[in-house]
Amino acid sequence: MTDRYTKLANGPLKALVKTLGLPSPVPLRRHSDGAYLSEPVLVLGAGAAADAYAQILLDNGFEVRRKPTSEKLSAVLAFFDEAQEPTDLSEIALEIGGALRGLVRCSRVIVFSRDAHISPERPADTDPALNATRNGAVGLMRSLAHEMRGGSTANGIVVSDGVPMDAPSVVSALWFLLSSKSAYVSGQPLHVTTAHGEAATAEALAGAHLDGRLAVVTGAARGIGAAIAATLARDGATVVGVDVPQAGDALARTMNGIGGTALQLDITAEDAGRVIAQRVGEPIDILVHNAGITRDRMLANMEASRWDSVIAVNIASQLRMNTQLTEAGAWGSAPRIISLASTSGIAGNRGQTNYAASKAGVIGMVAASADRFAAQGGTINAVAPGFIETEMTAKMPTLTREVARRVASLQQGGLPVDVAEAIAFLAAQSSGGISGTTLRVCGQNLVGA
Ligand code: NAD
Repeated sequence: MTDRYTKLANGPLKALVKTLGLPSPVPLRRHSDGAYLSEPVLVLGAGAAADAYAQILLDNGFEVRRKPTSEKLSAVLAFFDEAQEPTDLSEIALEIGGALRGLVRCSRVIVFSRDAHISPERPADTDPALNATRNGAVGLMRSLAHEMRGGSTANGIVVSDGVPMDAPSVVSALWFLLSSKSAYVSGQPLHVTTAHGEAATAEALAGAHLDGRLAVVTGAARGIGAAIAATLARDGATVVGVDVPQAGDALARTMNGIGGTALQLDITAEDAGRVIAQRVGEPIDILVHNAGITRDRMLANMEASRWDSVIAVNIASQLRMNTQLTEAGAWGSAPRIISLASTSGIAGNRGQTNYAASKAGVIGMVAASADRFAAQGGTINAVAPGFIETEMTAKMPTLTREVARRVASLQQGGLPVDVAEAIAFLAAQSSGGISGTTLRVCGQNLVGA
């Protein structure tokens, strides 16, 4: 599970790595190292949103610059929300470029834009030049993320028409992307589609913002699930961890460590949702569908049992649990449902037809469920991890594992806590405007990028 190359490349082999032009991954700054960097933030753009965010940053204790500067910077915020023509992109794009050398390690570039329509289903009056401009802003952000070095990231916040640029979830997305909680998120557009959600300050989102919320996490005994349970508990939630009876000891240890409750249950049981509703006995505010399995085989060699078990655990159980929990009236107010997808479900992966079908299924499920949960003030989203250092990926052949680490823009695997931080962000009351989406936590892995 240890990434020895990253240790060596930052230690005894540093000079050699540089001379040979080998990947030089930088240890990422995470929440335990402090929530935000202290250098000033440069805000680029002359419109109302840029002005509003300069003020929001000041109100939250950040130092702000409104003009390119030679000072060291912790972040650049670039506002393209008023751009109408592709030629409108150049001024701010070039100003971002000019600021890049002044960025400190593990800094952030955050691009704000309005939503483009890129599926054939779009409003009939979609203006081609405007749509090109909006999609162009996302394109520049994705490419810039590939160019970032020193553990720095670039991401986008894409706001739907009709939603104010300073809606609660746009501000909340800024705090997440600006903070060290988003260490392993890069090259991703985060879509805010409604003005729902409660406003949060930078400090509140870095603290116990889930106080008083009850969270159920499946597959919580180990790996990513254990990190999710610990992170939600750190942020104030009361956690019920679910796992199979065979993992009972590990589940008990994990739950004891965070003051949570263990619930031994196989989520493929026909009545799993009803059992959870009954055993928890309180309104469920947060449900994280994390339990998942792989049973890899080329399709030509795939046995029915391998195919069926992956579909049963990774997607069929989630659909059934959501229905049963809704029927049981088990949700709290403004519930947050977050499901684990995978980059394999976006790009496909050799040897994983069953897994990719199940994880692409998760992405389809959350997109189609958003309206149903909106009716009760809730949201449902997916998080798609790339290569994360867990027992699951420790079993990969050495060379495949090494390649998987280095093909990401951040040139390393992520940690379970990176996935957990994205989930805690989507679980926040301030994330009510984000629903039906899939957020990748993959260090901008080339897989499906
Ligand atoms: P893991 O194998 O380490 O842990 C999975 C947990 O789920 C285990 O504790 C297991 O006992 C539990 N579980 C399995 N079947 C269950 C069932 N029927 N009922 C209840 N619990 C069950 O896996 P991980 O690496 O921590 O992955 C967690 C999630 O993240 C999975 O959904 C996985 O597909 C997804 N994911 C992981 C990676 C990665 O790189 N590790 C990448 C993409 C997606």
